[in-house]
Amino acid sequence: MKVLIWNENIHEKEMPEVTQNYPGGIHGYIASLLASDDVEVRTATLDDEECGLTDEVLSDTDVLMWWGHAGHDLVPDDIVERVHKYILSGMGLIVLHSAHHSKIFRKINGTTCNLKWRDTARERIWTIKPNHPIAEGVDETFALDCEEMYGEPFDIAEPMETIFMGWFDGGEVFRSGCTWIRGNGKIFYFQPGHETNTAYHNENVQRILKNAVKWACPIKKNIPLECPFAEPLE
Ligand code: ZN
Repeated sequence: MKVLIWNENIHEKEMPEVTQNYPGGIHGYIASLLASDDVEVRTATLDDEECGLTDEVLSDTDVLMWWGHAGHDLVPDDIVERVHKYILSGMGLIVLHSAHHSKIFRKINGTTCNLKWRDTARERIWTIKPNHPIAEGVDETFALDCEEMYGEPFDIAEPMETIFMGWFDGGEVFRSGCTWIRGNGKIFYFQPGHETNTAYHNENVQRILKNAVKWACPIKKNIPLECPFAEPLE
């Protein structure tokens, strides 16, 4: 399985606590979590030519993981179109935390993807589909002592499945882990992962990311997106 972790890599250059939390940046840290005998992990950032999202790279990627926040608009539209095409032809997409406002996630949803937010809250996550492959080995409930609050209403297209629900100590709730299918591609959004917190150190969160990559991996990728005239067979 070939996983590409994309991170805008902006906060890492401006806020030392981000690389203290996540040595190598969020992309580097998650890459080290996911790499295994079965999983080949690469990373790409805004600093790379064409954002590191060339046809050559995407055609050789099973699952793309996306973390963004301050630089959504710096990703050119033609690159978003290209990523979208690869999702429709089978590539999996995992959208993390503030990438809810990324161009690709908004395009997939066709909505604003707006939500309520507030820095620094305690979150309790509930696994509400324990039999889902992304929930395998994940506790029924676990707490993140410091996470950014994301609250409903979350303006997304109705998910195919809602696997995790988040509750925050301000009283808010949030659909923290949801899936969609677009064309041949599987998509998972997962809410924790604010840059100045340490959610990706949490064992349940790590398990969810590993499971999500496995779930989103296509049986077949680069499926042609055609609309052919067909002669009758019989
Ligand atoms: Zn955040």
